[in-house]
Amino acid sequence: MTQQEYIERESRYGAHNYHPLPVVLQRGKGIFVWDTDGKKYFDFLSAYSAVNQGHCHHKIVGAVCEQAGKLALTSRAFHNDVLGQWEEYVTRFFGYDKVLPMNTGAEADETALKLCRKWAYLKKGIKDGMAKIIVCDGNFHGRTITIVSMSADPEAYRDYGPYTPGFVKIPYNDIPALERALEDPDVAGFLVEPIQGEAGVYVPDEGYLRRACDLCHAHNVLFMADEVQTGIGRTGRMLACDHEGVRPDILILGKALGGGVVPISAVLADDEIMLTIKPGEHGSTFGGNPVACRASMAALEVVREERLTENAEAMGRIFRDRMRSIGSDMIAEVRGKGLLNAVVIRPKNGREAWDVCLRMRDNGLLAKPTHDHIIRFAPPLIISEEELLDACGIIERSIRSFD
Ligand code: PLP
Repeated sequence: MTQQEYIERESRYGAHNYHPLPVVLQRGKGIFVWDTDGKKYFDFLSAYSAVNQGHCHHKIVGAVCEQAGKLALTSRAFHNDVLGQWEEYVTRFFGYDKVLPMNTGAEADETALKLCRKWAYLKKGIKDGMAKIIVCDGNFHGRTITIVSMSADPEAYRDYGPYTPGFVKIPYNDIPALERALEDPDVAGFLVEPIQGEAGVYVPDEGYLRRACDLCHAHNVLFMADEVQTGIGRTGRMLACDHEGVRPDILILGKALGGGVVPISAVLADDEIMLTIKPGEHGSTFGGNPVACRASMAALEVVREERLTENAEAMGRIFRDRMRSIGSDMIAEVRGKGLLNAVVIRPKNGREAWDVCLRMRDNGLLAKPTHDHIIRFAPPLIISEEELLDACGIIERSIRSFD
């Protein structure tokens, strides 16, 4: 089949809820993917930062295969011999009393919202049905009805109402706005991305997370960090909050927690928060299944053993310096932390970020625009300096081809 035929089949039988770059992939290894014609590409999206450890990492795939052939799923109706091991491993790894496993990032965010409300009613003493959660303009936490109810982009989510009430939206990276919102005694929590990934890799001012967390605590409000995209080494620390020494009251993880092989997400909190949820009040048939747990432990081991956070930090600096040195008038800005970076494209002769991505694809590198004019560059964290510089050469050549 030709790539066009693959694309047409998807379009004919699948919902049209995505707008992928036209390329059909068949194989992945490390930082590279290959299309159905055998052409090789640098993967500079990493499945939206889910493939931090590189495609099909042997240790993660090995753990999955072994467990899948032994016991793949029990549901939570019964115990199994893997879940507790993972729970112990993950809580020690991140330093929390307890963890609650789910599958996707959106589910983990929903879990955090439920936990926060429950804590508000049982512990903080907010009157039933009154709890509010502060969120930020520009946020992206997933696609469920409740999450789109607090979404940044009402245009994108028009026609999905009625929406879930109980959210207060404030500008991102705006401490005075947070201070004002926190004056309301019915506020239970503040949910924030340490760097706004989907919005276009917006890095807040230094000290923002520290100050926001301190303010929340001064008002007896839970500070909840959505590290689904920024976590697991992506920004040059295990968690992006680590850059400011901030420990969220509720930590939300997903994506690379499963090593880009199996979906697994998690919410971490201490007992005072986590034990407010009682049996029968929350869960998921596949959440914390043995295969995902094994994948997750292997995925976290890989990050530590291969020193991926350190590599992300070092390669990120080289990447941003190299991009800034291109000096093309199509590059309006380069920003990011670790290996979560964005290049803001200034359109030229009607050519936009999408055209740059198509040209990079032709030249052997895959990335995707977010919000028309921003290209996110997020390769697997295992990339070497030599490979990174090769890839930067492709990006430069592609941008310069529009000069
Ligand atoms: N939270 C953040 C910060 C994200 O970037 C994403 C996805 O991009 C999600 C949540 C949703 O994750 P999922 O697509 O696994 O539901």
